[in-house]
Amino acid sequence: MGKVIAIANQKGGVGKTTTAINLSASLAEKGKKILTIDLDPQGNTTSGLGVEKSEQDNTIYELLLGECTVKECMVKTEYDNLSLLPSNVNLAGAEIELIDVKDSQYALKNEIDYVRDDFDYIIIDCPPSLSMLTVNAMTTADSVLVPIQCEFYALEGLSQLVHTIELVQERLKPDLEFEGVVFTMYDGRTNLSSQVVENVKNNLQTRIFDTIIPRNVRLAEAPSHGLPINAYDTKSAGAEAYRNLAKEIIG
Ligand code: ADP
Ligand code: MG
Repeated sequence: MGKVIAIANQKGGVGKTTTAINLSASLAEKGKKILTIDLDPQGNTTSGLGVEKSEQDNTIYELLLGECTVKECMVKTEYDNLSLLPSNVNLAGAEIELIDVKDSQYALKNEIDYVRDDFDYIIIDCPPSLSMLTVNAMTTADSVLVPIQCEFYALEGLSQLVHTIELVQERLKPDLEFEGVVFTMYDGRTNLSSQVVENVKNNLQTRIFDTIIPRNVRLAEAPSHGLPINAYDTKSAGAEAYRNLAKEIIG
């Protein structure tokens, strides 16, 4: 049965989407069958994997509201072993509309259950909020992976995130696990980055991945070409880092 990993942190700009795209692509490159789920109305994971978000009839929005099946929503990307449930700006309305849906905390899970066995890993990119969409990601997931940006305010908001995970464990999904923390945008030229890593290690009693994602301009450029990093610049430090993260995930 496939393992479902939600990539969550309610802070924007910490590297969730970059991690969702490139971890997915790196796992697929290793021959794992991957489904990536774009749960952010910005649709950056969708476009970052080369899928035109405005051209999709069936997106995660239609799926959550029961207007299409998961098979109808699924798009094959250009890459071997890598499929996508796309999103676009319509998803922004789903928060409100889900209120009327029965068991709305499980709307995503109930659909993903149909395809869980078809994949080795299912990677969910969460929006930058602790919203109903993020709760849906967590009830679907086996574990939560938290990217933390190596910056001064790295720890801010982390206790709310941990609290949300605990609430979901208590009330909705007792076996939800904490996959671990991955540091992103690490800048080896500054002391700040290494201080943040030390600080988080001292304050969080949780798994921290050995792989640290460096600040790498190729990672920032790749989405504008609609390419994951291993297709855009396979020898870059960013591509190497996400390959190592994939290796750690596979274990
Ligand atoms: P989030 O999904 O958490 O909002 P993103 O993955 O979209 O964060 O990243 C925010 C911005 O930082 C994007 O412009 C992205 O291209 C850039 N970025 C992310 N990770 C890196 C990195 N390791 N090196 C350089 N730029 C990065
Ligand atoms: Mg994002």
